[in-house]
Amino acid sequence: MSWGFEPDPEYAEKLAWVEEFVRTEVEPVDRVIDHAWNVDDPVRNALIRPLQEEVRKRDLWACHLGPELGGQGYGQLKLALLNEVLGRTHSGPVVFGCQAPDSGNAEILAHYGTPELKERYLTPLLENEIVSSYSMTEPQGGSDPTAFVTRAVRDGDEWVINGEKWFSSHANFASFLIIMAVTDPDAPRHQRASMFVVPADTPGVEIVRGVGVWGHEEEEGTHPYMRYTDVRVPLDHLLGERGQGFAVAQTRLGGGRIHHAMRTVGLVKESIDMMLDRVVSRRSGTGTLADRQLVQEMLADSWIQLEQFRLLVLQTAWKIDHYNDYRKVITDISAVKAAMPKVLLDVVGRAIQLHGSLGISKEMPFGKWAMEAYHMALADGATELHKIQVAKQMLKGREPYEGLFPPRHLLALEQEARERFAHLLEVD
Ligand SMILES: Cc1cc2nc3c(=O)[nH]c(=O)nc-3n(C[C@H](O)[C@H](O)[C@H](O)COP(=O)(O)OP(=O)(O)OC[C@H]3O[C@@H](n4cnc5c(N)ncnc54)[C@H](O)[C@@H]3O)c2cc1C
Repeated sequence: MSWGFEPDPEYAEKLAWVEEFVRTEVEPVDRVIDHAWNVDDPVRNALIRPLQEEVRKRDLWACHLGPELGGQGYGQLKLALLNEVLGRTHSGPVVFGCQAPDSGNAEILAHYGTPELKERYLTPLLENEIVSSYSMTEPQGGSDPTAFVTRAVRDGDEWVINGEKWFSSHANFASFLIIMAVTDPDAPRHQRASMFVVPADTPGVEIVRGVGVWGHEEEEGTHPYMRYTDVRVPLDHLLGERGQGFAVAQTRLGGGRIHHAMRTVGLVKESIDMMLDRVVSRRSGTGTLADRQLVQEMLADSWIQLEQFRLLVLQTAWKIDHYNDYRKVITDISAVKAAMPKVLLDVVGRAIQLHGSLGISKEMPFGKWAMEAYHMALADGATELHKIQVAKQMLKGREPYEGLFPPRHLLALEQEARERFAHLLEVD
């Protein structure tokens, strides 16, 4: 049996470099650019492109992918340790070529795209020459995708898409979108939809408005409300089989969820680090906040939550590497996804409280990070649905017992034990 909690020395060295590089080179970029995903912004490019080059030289580019796609093939466990560092930054994932939603969209294209589609979209996406959007949620249906009504109808050599989508993150920067649309309305519920790749400049693709979220400063929000009116794409822009949209979606959602969790570990760590700075510095009576036992409890609770969550994330990453099959870790990923927002909100909440009025102010990042917890409770599926998935798995194969009392009813167990050991008990 082998059981290890330390990265190999070579990777530990890389992580040490990443830690330093992110602190000194990436975090300052966060302070001055508008949006790391905006590949049309010359200031962003002047600052981020050289950093990406540096990352490539260090063999740390696109660590979520295998070598066949230009990644490193390090696996999810190593990626988890990397993402922990990147998670505290805005630009970090882009600098290291593993940002959402491009990472998941790349996985879909790699699995289901024709060679032509891969050349046209996947190659520049992997180089971060372009970015993409994933357009699934609709204004009237998010958690229940069988309520989606966006339609794709075949017309000769083309598919024609009509409908509206909601919260298509980064569609305003995207060169292409991956859109889920109903192709077979009369099929069984989970075989009605298909997935398409659609160039963003196709006639009929319209941003109704950019939807902004609290905590983000952009004037125009980066989670657009989309309208598709008679959008025509060639037949080969269908990804996977017709009617298999839900199966195709799973290709990206498993990875996307665990990657968010890895980055969330980074944000939680950073919050605790900042809390520690504060409590040893802020005077309280004859000592500091750190001397107060109620404050110490807040620190301890934060550390315990972080460690519990981090272990769950790392074990799930290990299982993904071990089984090499997302279907075998669906429940683990759901557990991680469901645990994530509470850990983040609890710890960031304590960081706000311990920073007092400064904590709540816009001069510290905590308000934004608290909102991030709500993002994490919704993006890639609401917490409740993931808890349902965990519970369903737990209940699988469980049969009701016969009779009035449960099998491990103490009286019955004692009776059974007394009967079994009667020959010994009767000696007295
Ligand atoms: C930051 C962010 C980025 C996103 N990016 C994208 C993107 O790029 N592309 C995309 O397509 N979508 C994206 N989304 C949308 C996301 O997938 C949806 O928000 C999510 O699926 C929930 O759908 P909804 O918002 O319509 O909420 P609803 O489905 O209306 O659900 C609202 C609430 O109802 C409760 N609820 C719903 N169903 C159940 C149930 N069965 N049992 C118990 N409670 C339930 C939950 O509390 C849930 O939060 C993003 C969301 C966020 C917050």
